[in-house]
Amino acid sequence: MTTISNNLQGVRARIATACAQVSRPVDSVTLLAVSKTWGPEAVREAFAAGQARFGENYIQEAVDKITALRDLPLEWHCIGPIQSNKSRLVAEHFDWVHTIDRLKIAQRLSDQRPAHLPPLQVCLQANVDGGLTKSGIHPDEALALAAQVAELPRLCLRGLMVIPEPVSDYEGQLVALRQAKALFDAMAASLPGAAQFDTLSMGMTADLEAAVAAGSSMVRVGTAIFGGRVAGIAEIP
Ligand SMILES: *Cc1c(COP(=O)(O)O)cnc(C)c1O
Repeated sequence: MTTISNNLQGVRARIATACAQVSRPVDSVTLLAVSKTWGPEAVREAFAAGQARFGENYIQEAVDKITALRDLPLEWHCIGPIQSNKSRLVAEHFDWVHTIDRLKIAQRLSDQRPAHLPPLQVCLQANVDGGLTKSGIHPDEALALAAQVAELPRLCLRGLMVIPEPVSDYEGQLVALRQAKALFDAMAASLPGAAQFDTLSMGMTADLEAAVAAGSSMVRVGTAIFGGRVAGIAEIP
């Protein structure tokens, strides 16, 4: 077995244990493999080990990889910030976007989504713990933005995404993750006919157990699957 295949088994086991600890069914949490900085061969290895959903942060790197892997039935999630001049590439190549934090980008993505593709599946990114340098809408403004994004014809609003500030202890991690769950529940309750508002994207290598305990439905895991990234290139969210 390859290292990536072994690592994937390890991450799936962590998710299963975390689910069991809080009596959640294991299939209530989806694993997104974050392949940023890793080449197409690493993605192929993960696919051979049963992983079909991948997350990418850097748009041009991602588009090159997506193009090189056209022969595989993969689902691609954009989890990095989107500049206006990159929105067309995102609309044309990705299946999901987790980082909607302003209406202008959402409108561009809807306008630019090609007619032959299904609607782009999107999550709003919220800044629940007030990290100063971070993207994400203020929680107080999330309901209003969600209502506007839900109206855009070529987007399907699926949920909420957060990247809490790193905290090393489990109890400390739970604080921001529980705030995110509360915001997610409030948004789900406020959106009319939001049957598809089902995705709470939170949890990474270091906090996936706490994220599952707090109610995450999609964990985004890079390091525990592919290994450490080169410092300085990969750590910018
Ligand atoms: C890099 C990244 C991840 C994965 O982080 P790991 O700690 O390597 O698991 C998840 N989400 C976002 C937004 C990222 O940028």
